[in-house]
Amino acid sequence: MPAPRAPESPAASSSAPGGPGCSRLPFVHHAVAWIQEQLPAMERALQALVEINSFTSNREGGQEVGRRLDALLELPGVAREVVPGAACADHRVYRTAGRAGRAPVALLGHLDTVFPPGTFEGYRVDGALRRGPGVLDMKGGLVVAAFALAALAREGALGEAPPLVLVVVADEEVGSPEGAPVVRRALAGCQAALVLESGRANDALVTRRKGVGQLQVKARGKAAHAGNAHADGASAIWALSRFIDGAQALTSYPEGVTVNVGLVAGGTSRNTVPAEARAELDLRFPTAAAQARLVEELAALAASAAVPGTSLELVPGGGRPPMEPQPGTAALLERYARRAQAHGLQASEAPLQGGGSDGNTAAAMGIPTLDALGPRGRFFHTPQEYIEVGSLVPRAAALVELLVELGG
Ligand SMILES: [Zn+2]
Repeated sequence: MPAPRAPESPAASSSAPGGPGCSRLPFVHHAVAWIQEQLPAMERALQALVEINSFTSNREGGQEVGRRLDALLELPGVAREVVPGAACADHRVYRTAGRAGRAPVALLGHLDTVFPPGTFEGYRVDGALRRGPGVLDMKGGLVVAAFALAALAREGALGEAPPLVLVVVADEEVGSPEGAPVVRRALAGCQAALVLESGRANDALVTRRKGVGQLQVKARGKAAHAGNAHADGASAIWALSRFIDGAQALTSYPEGVTVNVGLVAGGTSRNTVPAEARAELDLRFPTAAAQARLVEELAALAASAAVPGTSLELVPGGGRPPMEPQPGTAALLERYARRAQAHGLQASEAPLQGGGSDGNTAAAMGIPTLDALGPRGRFFHTPQEYIEVGSLVPRAAALVELLVELGG
């Protein structure tokens, strides 16, 4: 593995802004022209982030990625707040002052990945593709955001955009248990949220994601000898099995609702009526209304599935609210799509996504949210993960133009 490279601040790069100031907004022109010369620097920055393992619970690795991100965002006009992480690395909030009187715009990202140390490491050039853990999900998106801010900062044009709040959490891949409150606090009052998560293979933009629920079911019964005193026992496994049968049947693909019983445990020995059993459920739902309905149905099921002498308890875990389009989401999509298309990207609206992101948290606050603004790629969460390196520049250019438009 090559020695990790310390990232340079994009603003410290020496190339001069190109292009004549012929636009009505010459600084946008200059900022975009500068970005168009930054592919080598963006790649160096990406490599420096990808070469460090930042599996969510690898706190040390996450801290190093955070420091490298700080170096990229060491820009005039960008302030940094570090929010200490407990079970993960520290979370970061970078802020700019922006145009007075404008509501802030949020940029969202995360620095953790799903790959434990030693399982998938390194940064690899493969023709037009770049491979490595988190290259798509979502260190590529962090580079896009950093260079968009750098382009505005070096043009002295951060004041042309709204106030910007870039939130980078360290535990998104496990559902942001610590990061979600950081996101909620930082996003209060924002007019829009732009999420730099993995770009899709066809550049499709994500406006809708399912909500995610985690639920543990605990069944309790009464232990008894299976031969001598069967009638004295009450089988927790039997009760749990009846619940599982009903829960799985609540799945409705047409409605986008799924229930997955992913883990089951129970009992103590073959010849003992089991006193305890439990199951872990993953729930997905497209709307808050569907979520409420599902929770109600599961509670009714817990009551009806119990067999005499047993009881079932539902223990909700973490989760994410669904990302539903808000008033303003369609207009935001249209604005960004116009910019993206001008830079050669496609920009259709993606179908409802099954996986969540911190964009779910933003949308649940009523903020118009656009997701999947990172570079184009495929196969996130697998060792086949890659990005098309040529999409870094157009993504950053489109983002700069949108930010200035939102400040106008
Ligand atoms: Zn991600």
